Amino acid sequence: MILQQDTICALATPQGVGAIGVIRVSGERTFEIVNIIFKGRDLTKVDTHTLHFGTIRDENECIVDEVLVAVFKNPTSFTKEDVIEISCHGSNFIIQQILKLLIKNGCRLAQAGEFTQRAFLNGQFDLVQAEAVADIIAAESEASHRTAINQLRGGFSKQLVKLREELIHFASMVELELDFGEEDVEFADRDDLKNLILRLQAQILPLISSFSYGNAIKNGIPVAIIGPPNAGKSTLLNTLLNEEKAIVTPIAGTTRDILEDVMVISGIQFRFIDTAGIRETEDLIESIGIERSKQAIEKADIVLLLSSLNATGEMEQFDIAHLLKNKDVIQVINKIDLFEKKAVYDDWLGLSAKLGTGIEALKTELLNRVQDKKTSDVLITNLRHYDLLTKTNEALNEVLQGLEVNITGDFLAQDIRLALHHLGELTGTITNDDLLINIFSKFCIGK
Ligand code: GDP
Repeated sequence: MILQQDTICALATPQGVGAIGVIRVSGERTFEIVNIIFKGRDLTKVDTHTLHFGTIRDENECIVDEVLVAVFKNPTSFTKEDVIEISCHGSNFIIQQILKLLIKNGCRLAQAGEFTQRAFLNGQFDLVQAEAVADIIAAESEASHRTAINQLRGGFSKQLVKLREELIHFASMVELELDFGEEDVEFADRDDLKNLILRLQAQILPLISSFSYGNAIKNGIPVAIIGPPNAGKSTLLNTLLNEEKAIVTPIAGTTRDILEDVMVISGIQFRFIDTAGIRETEDLIESIGIERSKQAIEKADIVLLLSSLNATGEMEQFDIAHLLKNKDVIQVINKIDLFEKKAVYDDWLGLSAKLGTGIEALKTELLNRVQDKKTSDVLITNLRHYDLLTKTNEALNEVLQGLEVNITGDFLAQDIRLALHHLGELTGTITNDDLLINIFSKFCIGK
């Protein structure tokens, strides 16, 4: 259990040497404690949102550093508590010295995510917004950043909180009916209740179906380049990567043999699942190559099916149609610099991976396919949100079915309460220590 009344401190900027480091202090005793080690203006007497130059001194009055302190008085701070941010020179030694002095004078080192947790507990924002803080920090592309910013600004949760309040009203009305026992009273208008449920579902369903897209935007859209040996898969991948000049260190996929190259095209992050390994083993065991393609296809949202033309202008066969069922496939014919593409291949996008012809068209097609997957402007990217929205929707369906068959008030109330519970867990109206620890421990210290 984290103690709220402690005054906490932590480095808010990354570990390591930098031009400046920012140390955050938050809690009831912030001004009193920082005042002990800061020589400059009396921080208990200054206005909120002001900056002050001074020195930090140790117990022997030796200067540790010249610093700037920013003062935020409660409740107009990130945590809604008294907050000071000390900007010092970014040396590890200085930062450690200042943290030690703060702790010696009564601060405690903050736990991971504790500043954001306090902001949540003090009503700065709801749980969905708190989680968005972590996503903003982790965002690696423009699109994932936009999604996180939307959520931080209240995105979908504000609307849901409002509808939840309306639903609470209905739950109480139905429960009030129960108090009247045998008497045939109906305080909660069933048609109005049904309307409200439909309005809630109209909010929730697009969010639920946005999850796979939202998640892909957050983590990168997985794309597999599949094709027979020598079709030009490696060449295509290299051409794409060189064009974007945005090679991120390849990250190991879940399967040991599959590597992924990450690149951002027009603000959307793509993860190309490399199956180039096929070639090395095809002579020995062709089935290994097929197995790898299969794994890559399973992981992919989009499959680039690459073929090339042979000397007579016919397409090389690569019989994997059975693996591509229900997959979003872009058919590409490579090496059009060598052979003219016949009209029968009009459905296929022609390109020369070697010369770069058709690469722009391919990128546009990739972006189009991503756009097609978008079901709603506000996106769900978090499994916890997806899970709770799905459960809410199921409970709401129960309520609707109950209304259809004129179910008794006590059962109706139960189903409504269940939906309210899941919604409350989503936004953090209903919460418990385990849940909070689970969410905020994923943050860094200082956030
Ligand atoms: P992979 O086995 O599918 O990865 O194929 P590679 O990318 O290794 O390419 C096989 C061969 O085809 C190499 O010699 C490439 O230089 C060549 N190649 C790839 N793309 C093109 C292209 O667009 N035009 C031509 N003329 N050759 C290509």
